[in-house]
Amino acid sequence: MKTKICSECHKRKKVIEFHKDKRSKNNYKNNCKICTKNRYNKNKKNIRKKQKEYYERNKLKILKKQKRNLIIIIEIQQLWKEL
Ligand SMILES: [Zn+2]
Repeated sequence: MKTKICSECHKRKKVIEFHKDKRSKNNYKNNCKICTKNRYNKNKKNIRKKQKEYYERNKLKILKKQKRNLIIIIEIQQLWKEL
């Protein structure tokens, strides 16, 4: 069984522990499945954190916008009633 060193954790692992990648020279990704997964999870957390930060920073703006939209919806509904 062929082995390969992961570029991220630098451990020697069997190639089955790497995702396949046709674009790469040896047909396997440079980082192992575990590292790929870890990175994915970390990214996911980061994205969520960034979204939260963005929301916190722009809360007033977002709320105002939502409120405005809500008012527009209510106005439209009233218009419909009057028709
Ligand atoms: Zn790894």
